Amino acid sequence: MEGMRSLPTLPRPSEVPLLRFIYASEAWAFLQCPLRAVFERDDSLRTFRPVSAAALLGSAAHQTLESLYAAQRGSLTIESDSQATRVVARGAFDAELLRLCEQRDRVLEARGTLPGDDVQRPTSLPYHALVRARVEVFAASRFGPAWRWGSPPRRNSRSHAGPAIDAAPDANAIDLGMEIPLRSKDGRIRGKADSIVADGVGVAIEEFKSGARGNRVRESGAFQLTLYASVFHERTGEWPRRLWLHVLPAPPIEVQVVPEEIGRRRARLLRAMDDVNETLGRADLASLGRPSGANCTSCRHRPWCSAFRCGHVELDDQRIDVAGSVVRVEGWTTTLETRGTQIAIDCRGLGALPAVGSRVRFCSLRGVGVQLAADRTSSAWLLPTHEG
Ligand code: SF4
Repeated sequence: MEGMRSLPTLPRPSEVPLLRFIYASEAWAFLQCPLRAVFERDDSLRTFRPVSAAALLGSAAHQTLESLYAAQRGSLTIESDSQATRVVARGAFDAELLRLCEQRDRVLEARGTLPGDDVQRPTSLPYHALVRARVEVFAASRFGPAWRWGSPPRRNSRSHAGPAIDAAPDANAIDLGMEIPLRSKDGRIRGKADSIVADGVGVAIEEFKSGARGNRVRESGAFQLTLYASVFHERTGEWPRRLWLHVLPAPPIEVQVVPEEIGRRRARLLRAMDDVNETLGRADLASLGRPSGANCTSCRHRPWCSAFRCGHVELDDQRIDVAGSVVRVEGWTTTLETRGTQIAIDCRGLGALPAVGSRVRFCSLRGVGVQLAADRTSSAWLLPTHEG
């Protein structure tokens, strides 16, 4: 069939070096399941990470806000300018998203497309309109309905997205502004604060989330902010006055600065890192897994995670993973035999079909019983002989 993709062979996790540091943005997820963070560092798996619409849209939203702040800081106020902030934000968002999609296209050209890659043009990406509207609303609430500054700066499609996290200086001074690299003195906690601003009564650190909402995003964002506060204090001797979590377009959530609690969280994280390194030293990767519906449903490492398969976890959101041998292919329907049962799988959502006789693992199918279907969040992998 036209435009058909081929299925990738399931990669094998490689040996992972010890955890030297952790990003504040992944710290909460790391405590829920350390194995997930270990897989994230595995270069051999990185190649097989589909480019998702959520990641593209989230990056575009972040970079739009960054460029709006940069314009506000760098311009003289223009009283007579009557442009609506929403229009300016929309233009900046469109430009950022186009640039990111051009970058994506170069990556896909080099490695080929995988099931799960969101390959649509910018305005056709799933949830495009929703995220763009959230950014517009947030910009208008932050800067006012009328935009009184110059044009936001544009990056070209090959430019870098701000200072690198790992390039954070060792000096104690911390800049104010957007995308500020932070690193603890021992180098074990790193990150890039979305915004650090001074408002007359003290410093506020802000984190913006534009994609999924819900408790996990709030808990993870709050944990991230408290680690930034801890590093800020370590570097400057001062605690930030405020920590703001913006889960767009909802009103900001204030995360309390409680030094003792922040210290406890940081100590807990560092202890967990020590424990993980001890386990990695014994090459006992699977024991780092914490399989559960809450942890594994959103995890992109399920296809190669033996801890998940041994844990017999029931996924949330009616998602199903299944593996077996392909016994028949008719149109877009593949019949898979698994443990003596035949299951019909509509593969249209994958844009790929396995060959009869191949052994395949499907992830994140929808449906019930023996009638399942792939959608844009599903993936499928050819099983090498060592995989069951
Ligand atoms: S699939 Fe589950 S157990 Fe495995 S790494 Fe992901 S969250 Fe952890």
